[in-house]
Amino acid sequence: LCGGRSFRHWWRVEGYDIGRCKDCGLVQVLQEVTVAQLQELYSSGYYNGDNDKVYRNYLADPAAKIAHFGRRFDRVCRENNLTKPGRLLEIGCAFGLGLVAARERGWTVCGAELSAHAAAWAREHYGLDVRSEPDALQHMPDASQDVVTMWDVMEHLQEPREMLREIRRILAPGGVLYFATCDVGSLGARLYGRHWYLIAPPYHLIYFDHESTRQMLEREGFMVRRICNDGRPSAGELGPA
Ligand SMILES: [Zn+2]
Repeated sequence: LCGGRSFRHWWRVEGYDIGRCKDCGLVQVLQEVTVAQLQELYSSGYYNGDNDKVYRNYLADPAAKIAHFGRRFDRVCRENNLTKPGRLLEIGCAFGLGLVAARERGWTVCGAELSAHAAAWAREHYGLDVRSEPDALQHMPDASQDVVTMWDVMEHLQEPREMLREIRRILAPGGVLYFATCDVGSLGARLYGRHWYLIAPPYHLIYFDHESTRQMLEREGFMVRRICNDGRPSAGELGPA
């Protein structure tokens, strides 16, 4: 968060070092991971049980998942008094099931998804506008979206502040960013330490807590409305949360 280079080493997991910045307190994987490595990580095996850190079968029951995402999107709208459909961008939308749910509710939707495999599926099966180029967000016009959602994506990013800067540019005035990530300050994380189920490098590169989440958002000019733990894995029985 602060650009500091001084870390307190916490754990070594699967060959990756995880440490906490001595200045801002952000917990993170200390090695660099390249975009090419990430694209490889999120190829089709990520959604199909490549290893025990990934989704077993993401598309086992799309209708159930669309319903789940729909309920979650209703909550986003309710909590932000969004009474009329608007424009939604979902970052890390996987196969587009969340976008389908929002579209059913009258929203104009588009997505960004680093997994070329999942993005192509979303385009072909649902006719969605989902882009997978690493610079897809940079091509989106300023102030073009009312809501941006990111479910369980922030912890996968190497440069979340750059992502937030793009999101802020893309959001229309008064727009809302709504996201879920893991909380390394939670009771479970503190109890289980390096064995906590969300410690999963190189998939999860950053481990936020409330304080680092708030700091990150404020440093990028967001007004933080609410940070909460709802304790539920995001999409039911789904592998990595
Ligand atoms: Zn720092």
